[in-house]
This record gives sequence, C-alpha cells and structure tokens, in this order.
Amino acid sequence: MRIFHTVSGLRDALKVHRREGLRIGFVPTMGNLHQGHLALIEQARGSCDIVVCSIFVNALQFGLNEDWDKYPRTYQDDCDKLAAFGCDYLFHPDDTEMYPNGLDTQSRVICPTMTDVLCGASRPGHFEGVTTVVTKLFNIVQPDEAVFGIKDYQQLAVIRRMAEDLCMPVEITAAPIYREADGLAMSSRNGFITEQERPNVVVLKQSLEWIAEQIHAGERNFRELEKLAVERIADAGFKTDYITVSHSKTLDPAAEDDLEITILGAMFTEAARLIDNLSIRLD
Ligand code: AMP
Repeated sequence: MRIFHTVSGLRDALKVHRREGLRIGFVPTMGNLHQGHLALIEQARGSCDIVVCSIFVNALQFGLNEDWDKYPRTYQDDCDKLAAFGCDYLFHPDDTEMYPNGLDTQSRVICPTMTDVLCGASRPGHFEGVTTVVTKLFNIVQPDEAVFGIKDYQQLAVIRRMAEDLCMPVEITAAPIYREADGLAMSSRNGFITEQERPNVVVLKQSLEWIAEQIHAGERNFRELEKLAVERIADAGFKTDYITVSHSKTLDPAAEDDLEITILGAMFTEAARLIDNLSIRLD
C-alpha cells in the first residue's frame, strides 16, 4: 500500500491509473478502523481496480463542544489493517494540507435539504462540514465510485443528494451496517462506552426493531411508536436524542401511506452519542 500525505502526490499517482482506464474506488474515513470500515474496502475491492482510502479527522464537521480532540487516532494500526485488506492507496493529509487557507474562510458546500433534521438538528453545521470535505476529497481522488456505510444513513442520503445536485461524476454505493455479536453497530465512538453501559446499549437497535415489528403488525401511529421507543431507551438508562419513523428518501416524518420507511435513532451514553437505523419496505 502506498501512503500519501499531500494532494499533489496522490494526484500524480492516480493520474497514471486513470490514463490506463482503471476504475478507481474510494472509501473516505476518519480512521480508528474497525471491521465495518474494512467491509467498505472489501466492497470497493470487488467492483474497482484500484482502492483508495482516506483517513482525516475533519475538524469542519465537529461542533465546538464536540469530541474532535478526543476522537481516537490509531494511525499505525489503521495502516496495517488497510494493507492486509488490499487497499492500494492511503491518503492521510494533515489539517493544513486539507485547509491551507484556514477553516474560517474555507469555501463551503451546502445541501439545503435533510441537513437540519435528525443528526443535523443536534449537530448544527455538521453536514456542511461533511459535504465540504467529501467534495474536496472527491476532487482530489476523482473516484469512479465512492463507498459509504448505511450506518450513517443521513450522511449517505445527503451525499447522494449533493452528488446528484452538483453533477459529480462519481457513483455513490452503500454498504450494509456491520455489527458486534449482540447487534451494536460498530463505531469508532464505541470505545467511549463504559463497561457498565455496554450490555445495555443494544437497546437502541432493539427499539428500532420493536418499532419495525409494530409497523409490520399494522400499527400506523408512528409518532406514538417513537414516544414509546424513547421510553424503552429511558428504562434502559439512556437519554434519547431522537427516534424517528421517516420516509427513506426525504427523511421527512413518515406518513401513514408511505411504503419505504427508515427508522432512525440516536441516544447518549455518558461519553458517547450512538446512532443506528433500520429500513423497511411495506407492500
Ligand atoms: P467514519 O470513519 O466514522 O467517518 O466512517 C467512515 C465510513 O465508514 C462511513 O461511510 C461510515 O458510514 C462507514 N461505517 C462506519 N461504521 C460502520 C459500520 N458499523 N458498518 C458499515 N459502515 C460503517
């Protein structure tokens, strides 16, 4: 695996492959790689000739009181994993390489829909940071395909919309949620869960599944289901950020006759904010 820390170095290397007509796949990450990330690499490996991964903990998508400084950075370990999983190129820029003019005056990419609800409501500016850095990374790597995890459902929806709106010449593909044995969605932030909390955090996934069961059984009072799920989460000792039954494409609150539904949730542990989601189809 070849590692580049500069935009120009990576561009020069990839130019050769582009001229050869090879299909370039890209997996953007913030590092601290787990099996969920590596499954994305494998997926890109399956459909592309060249696989590029980036590791960049993007300050622009973290709020002032969020965990940018505490975010786990495990660079050497990440390199070993990526090399073992057949990643061809790693892009690992520092902040000045990505934001040479500073963060405050950085040009931004704004997606005006789906970004101020759910995670965007509790993390103002978060998705603007995501769309801006992903655009920059797309411009640097110029991939034919970019793979994103369904684990971050809203992020995937926003990136798809951005790519469509801005005619970005990249195919966005989705990878399934990778989970621990008890069902907890893998996340770099799971390391912040305490030993006492760990057996109970699966309540988030279980609550989404419970809502799905009720809907399959014919219940259509979605707002009531959301309320009851919040109570289940409180009973397990956690504070809910949001639980919503949403339209899968627009992320608007689902209407009774919607056929494609995604149930999304976020809850707080003492030191982490965990997210999960579950999509169902009614026909
Ligand atoms: P992150 O490093 O958290 O920014 O995530 C980088 C990419 O990995 C994103 O596309 C995430 O959606 C994806 N990802 C993170 N956790 C998982 C998981 N448990 N299963 C599948 N994909 C994931």
